[in-house]
Order: sequence, then structure tokens, then C-alpha cells
Amino acid sequence: MSILFSDFTILTPGGDVQEHAFVGILGDRITYVGQEAPEGDWQRIIDGKDKLLMPGFCNSHAHSPMTLMRGYGENLILQEWLRTRIFPFEDKLYPEAVYYATLLAMAESFRYGIVSTSDMYFFSDDMVKAYLSSGAKANVARSLAGFDEDEDMYGMTSFKEAKRLFEEYNGAEDGRIKVDMSLHMEETSTEKLARQLAEYSRDIGARMQVHISESESEHEGCKKRHEGRTPVAYLNDLGLFDSPTTAAHCVWVEEEDRAILREKGVTVASCPVSNLKLASGVADIPALMEAGVAVALGTDSVASNNSLNFIEEMKFFALVNKERRRDPTLITPREAFYAATRAGALGQGRTDCGLLEEGCKADLTVLDLKAPGMHPTFDLYSNLVYSASGSDVTLTMIDGKMVYEDGEYLTIDVERAVHETEKARVEISAQVG
Ligand SMILES: [Zn+2]
Repeated sequence: MSILFSDFTILTPGGDVQEHAFVGILGDRITYVGQEAPEGDWQRIIDGKDKLLMPGFCNSHAHSPMTLMRGYGENLILQEWLRTRIFPFEDKLYPEAVYYATLLAMAESFRYGIVSTSDMYFFSDDMVKAYLSSGAKANVARSLAGFDEDEDMYGMTSFKEAKRLFEEYNGAEDGRIKVDMSLHMEETSTEKLARQLAEYSRDIGARMQVHISESESEHEGCKKRHEGRTPVAYLNDLGLFDSPTTAAHCVWVEEEDRAILREKGVTVASCPVSNLKLASGVADIPALMEAGVAVALGTDSVASNNSLNFIEEMKFFALVNKERRRDPTLITPREAFYAATRAGALGQGRTDCGLLEEGCKADLTVLDLKAPGMHPTFDLYSNLVYSASGSDVTLTMIDGKMVYEDGEYLTIDVERAVHETEKARVEISAQVG
């Protein structure tokens, strides 16, 4: 398929806004970006009047099947929320429920311009099935947890699932599907498990996803459990960051932690909305950036967000960080946009994603610029981060394939996904009370 985006406003890799640009797509790649209409026999030409074409968003930390728990368990502290609501509900999950909930999450993602998701959960086969059928791009990870100090990882069912998933799907669909390894977090794992997984991941060349220092109790508890070492220091000692790692949250990390994160090339997936809702705290993103740590953006689960609206996520990301240090000069709209796109793609090991540039994968989003709230335009980046709504997205394309356009979900039967997810919600609710 060849598509020409004709006469669009675009956001260039250098952070500039360019008007009257032409962008050609051939197969899954961007093959032309320029001010002149390119020669060629385009199968489709899309008119760009009053429209912005930009790289799609990369959701660097999510648990997509938890879409099923949107609005379930509100106004509770993190530990109580997990213990009394989330874990009992998750205990009753079944493959079909996970499949449709993931599909629903992908529909919502496309609607808000998300093209790629780092996804950590279980029932991974059903998640992969949903990415395959919907055309979504994902780094999926079967998360490992364990509390028995003597248990050997290689005998764990969850590990076997992660291993098989990696062997079966890593790199599938021309790299659209990647399989990462995942340690759930320090608090929910033993030293032996963390060490064994770190070794295994390094040996097979996988990437790593992990939760780090989300809550103060987790961070301080880790220091008590491990001779004063923070989660970053402890997991680094066990070799976890020898694999390219995405660490979600990092709200409570300390100065020495930031040096380790930078040295190990860890990408921090900041999840400001989830952190605010669970009152976990606000990560000191400017300090991480000043220390040279790569910072990307994630929604975390819809159970703690309760949305995949990525424009909203960018806005919160900028605002909470200004307030945290009482400094309005911090986190510019361009920095927020970079965290939401290119930084996330790099964290997923996708060097050819997250930029509107010739040779890159055609992972694109179109935003309506006609909306009254998008005018006047002094700086388009400011309008994008602070004024736009997620619903201003009109088109989302992944690997050159249209997945959402003008209210239509082109790869997902969204009514079915809604119906089946509601059905699963009723069924599971009846069991957990
Ligand atoms: Zn999470």
C-alpha cells in the first residue's frame, strides 16, 4: 500500500513545526518527507488541510487487560487497593476476558494516538492474540513474582510461559511484536528470582520491564530488607540492568540511584496520573533529566488512571513537575512530547520508530487543528500539550496500516470488544462480590 499525506503541518525530528509538507508511505515505512509533492502513483492521497501529522505516542508502561477493572476499587491506598480489589479480581480472570479487555485497550489507544505499548501482565498469549489481530505494536512481558526464597525460577510456570512467549513471538510481524522479560518488583520477588531472571534475560538478549520505587513504603521497605540498599541499588547489584531496562515510576529514587540509572542506560517510564491517583508521590523528572537519565511516559493500568488519553498524560507530566519544584520553566512542551514519543520508542529498543523521518516506521497520528481550542497558534507544541484533547486525534497508523480513522476502528470490532468486556465484568464481579 502506498499513501501520500499531502500538504500537512508536521512536527520534524528536530522539534520544528513545518507547514505544507508532504509525507509518503510505502509499505510499513516513511519513504518521503519534503515540501514538494513527490512523484509516484499513490494508491491513496490524504488531504492535510487544518491537520497536524506527527509521530504516534509510545505508552511506555501499561497493563492493558486491566481495562477490565476501570473504575473498580476507587479511593483506596495502594496496598489495600491491590489486596482487597485488584488481586481478588485478577484471580478470577480467564483467557477470553483478557483477550477482549486487551482489544478494548488497543481501541482506546488508537483513538488517542498511541501506536506502541510496553505491556506487563499475565495471560500473555491472549494479549499477543489481541495485538496480532488489531495491528497494535507492543513490547509484551509476562511478569514474574515469587515469595519462596528457595524456589528455582526455571521450575516456575510463569517463567516457562515467559520463555515460551519469547521463543514464539519475539520479533514477530517484522518486529511489531517484541517480548521482554519482567520482574514485577523488588517487593514481590526473592533475591534468587531476581538474580536468575537477570542472568537469563542477559543470556538471551531480552529487554527488561520492572516497577521501581513507586511508593514510599516499597522504597523504604526495600532499604530495611536489603542492608540499606534502595530498589535501584539492590536490583543493580543483582544484574537486572545488564539487560536494557524500562523502569516504571521511580518516584522515590535518590541521587545515587539516578547515577546508576544513567550509567546503565535505564529508561524511566513516568506515570504521573496513576501516581497522583494512588497518591504515590511525584517523580522528580527534572532531576532525572539533569542526571542524563532517559525519561519516557506511561499510563500505567486503566485501573489506576482511568484512561489512555495520552495528551492528558503529557499535560499532567508537565504540570506536576512544575509544581513539584515550584518552577514553571521546567518540562517544556517539546520535552513532554519527546518523552511521549521518541524516548518511549528508544526505550522499547525501536530505533526506527518515534520520529517523522524518511526510513522510519510509519507510526503516525493526525490531529485536527480546526478545533476552536487550538487557536490562535503562537506555538503549536504548547497547543498540543496544553490545549488539545485526546479526542482531537482523527487518524492513527501503525507500520503503514490504518487502524483508526474518523471514528472508525479499522482492525477491531469495537462493539464486540465492549460487549465481551462488559460480560466478563459482570461474570467476575458476581464471583468476587
Ligand atoms: Zn504498573
